[in-house]
Amino acid sequence: MIDNAHPIALYLTDNWFIYPWLTKHQQQVVLSFAERFCDETEFWFTPSIVPSEELAWLVAANAALVGGAQATNCFAGVRWVYLVGDDAFDGELSGDARGHSTVRINAFDLVEESQERISGQQIAIHEFAHVLDALFGITDSTPALRDALELHLENRRNGIEDIIPDVVFETMVEQNTREEFFSYVSEIFFTDPHGILNFYPPLYNDLVAIYGLNLAKQLPDLNAEAINTK
Ligand SMILES: [Zn+2]
Repeated sequence: MIDNAHPIALYLTDNWFIYPWLTKHQQQVVLSFAERFCDETEFWFTPSIVPSEELAWLVAANAALVGGAQATNCFAGVRWVYLVGDDAFDGELSGDARGHSTVRINAFDLVEESQERISGQQIAIHEFAHVLDALFGITDSTPALRDALELHLENRRNGIEDIIPDVVFETMVEQNTREEFFSYVSEIFFTDPHGILNFYPPLYNDLVAIYGLNLAKQLPDLNAEAINTK
């Protein structure tokens, strides 16, 4: 049992936007998952990144959100996590996941998107959603996931902007796979659950079932906040 005076808990309280909104029980699940993940995973840091336990904790905590409700065994299959600098992907990508075993994440994006709640942006969630998908075959596996993608494509054809960024379609075409859609909607789900709920409620319900978290009930509505602060 890890209590809230544990260094990981103290760090997450100050550096991870979602932590204070989780229940005590959910925080416990995250902490136990993160501790085990860190114990069993090798972290590598490219030369431009100062190695730190804190970076590993942020990766592990985001992985816990993605894998905590499924039989991922704390993502035991992920053996290596690379924390990389801006030079790693020719400035084009912020991360990638290779099958089940290796995840690479831009350390600067990881920290920025953990400290600040930015709609649709959390690179670690994106990459671990790919791992979850590789493990369980989630892409296209439910009617709501398929229908939500069709809805987005229909919006695109009609020139209507929705919550799914243009890069999703571009990457799907480029890579000839629809896997990007699940990772992107997962990023939106954890950062802006009300946005997903407004876009297509059945998709929101499926993501609640996959991730075991009804986040629209726990997090404040990002858009309502924006209106209030104007
Ligand atoms: Zn991706």
